[in-house]
Amino acid sequence: MGNQCCSKREDVEPRSIYTGLKPSGNDVKIGALEPRYTPDPQRGQFDIIRPRPTPTRPTASGHRIVVALYNYTARDVTDVSFRKGDRLQVIDDSDGDWWTVIHLSTAQEGLIPGNFVAIELSVESEDWFFENVSRKEADKLLLAEENPRGTFLVRPSEHNPHGYSLSVKDWEEQRGYHVKHYKIKPLDNGGFYISTNKTFHSLSELVQAYSKNAWGLCHVLSRPCAKPQPQMWDLGPTFRDKWEIPRDEIHLIRRLGRGNFGEVYYGKWRDTIDVAVKTLREGAMSTQAFLQEAAIMKKFRHKRLVALYAVCSKEEPIYIVQEYMSKGSLLDFLRKEEGKTLEFEDLIYIAFQVASGMEYLESKQLIHRDLAARNVLIGENNIAKICDFGLARVIEDNEYCPRQGSRFPVKWTAPEAIIYAKFSIKSDVWSYGILLMELFTHGQVPYPGMHGREVIDQVEKGYRMPKPTSHYIPDEIYQIMLNCWDAKPENRPTFEFLTHYFEGFNVTSEIPYREVPD
Ligand code: AMP
Repeated sequence: MGNQCCSKREDVEPRSIYTGLKPSGNDVKIGALEPRYTPDPQRGQFDIIRPRPTPTRPTASGHRIVVALYNYTARDVTDVSFRKGDRLQVIDDSDGDWWTVIHLSTAQEGLIPGNFVAIELSVESEDWFFENVSRKEADKLLLAEENPRGTFLVRPSEHNPHGYSLSVKDWEEQRGYHVKHYKIKPLDNGGFYISTNKTFHSLSELVQAYSKNAWGLCHVLSRPCAKPQPQMWDLGPTFRDKWEIPRDEIHLIRRLGRGNFGEVYYGKWRDTIDVAVKTLREGAMSTQAFLQEAAIMKKFRHKRLVALYAVCSKEEPIYIVQEYMSKGSLLDFLRKEEGKTLEFEDLIYIAFQVASGMEYLESKQLIHRDLAARNVLIGENNIAKICDFGLARVIEDNEYCPRQGSRFPVKWTAPEAIIYAKFSIKSDVWSYGILLMELFTHGQVPYPGMHGREVIDQVEKGYRMPKPTSHYIPDEIYQIMLNCWDAKPENRPTFEFLTHYFEGFNVTSEIPYREVPD
């Protein structure tokens, strides 16, 4: 195995998407979209970014009309509430996250989160169109219990820059519920087809047609999959840059656990928004060092990293206010009932998500230093996100020193980091290998029966954790772990490689269309 990547996602070319529907008024025509994968200095080269649609013909006033894809409740005096389906006129979208709009029913002017809306009548405004969803994520969303057979979504193809994929939930006697993926191929004239004998002018036409007749699909398209709410990166528009918040706006409700830094609580911000609050033990780190690190963390955004919302740092203990992840740490989750019943596919999905978050940090040259199952959090639908990236560097606790400290994560740390304090993204790859072992053994402590000191000595001599017999781990995944634990850091795989590896693991190619006589 090498460190080469499988496909260069940033190679995707721009394309136009038309719904083929005529706008009801004559003010908006659906326009060309920018590339789906745009290198962005703010977000990292490989980050998936929502395209910024630009209409070919703006309204008489020169502004675009967008339609709300979700409900949104204003959090401040500066933002505007809306309901799914409401129409809004965009005044300014130069800030990527918060757009200034006028609500066309209430005439209220203010800010809205730009990722809650789409250009009216564009394909992105369709309930069934999922812009930034991978095949693995499509499987996960569609397999949710509440979705009946025939629930579907359309997403841009991961392999064909001009094509799309139709993912449909199916049921078969032998296989039970599963998802089938069909290629939607583009025509030279801008149309689309699944089968060459049935072509359509637009994706909407294609979906409408297959909603009436299966024509050889596993099932007629019955209903669009429910779209998960988009990620919020701030508590509200006023907290983009000013993220020190008054402590009395936070209501601590329930203790979730105790971590490296101190107690962690579930709470509410202004009694409305769910948050997780980390309270920093006095002396755990210098306030100044922490705030510098937090400012960096705030800039890192990826759907596989836990969002840092705000801090309360004016008095001790400092609060770090984060996105709340309902199922807690991956380690606890794996050991509890729900985690124990996870299927192999779910474990692969978690391995993929963690690699993907780390791939982002790799592209930003940020080293985590404490990657472990305890520092990955789980939300609904087995969504996994990495937390505490960068914080290990500013911990001042003596117990957290390499070699001597009782809290130092010896079993997760690469030998060169323990011995020479040479932390790098490659020492994170080592830790990822250990995390894989935790994952596939459902939360077993690594190097069972060995003490930290013994682990350091043995690993230096070339000892590596053997493949456990107690749990199912395919040879090729165990080999990946060994590659992560290569004594030479430069021989370890990149996170980019690991992401592609787990994304493609055990995936049969999209099924060709099976002709069934009419
Ligand atoms: P930590 O300080 O990150 O080790 O956190 C200690 C425990 O608090 C974890 O094991 C989780 O169970 C819980 N926790 C930490 N952060 C969050 C979060 N953002 N959402 C939900 N639970 C969390």
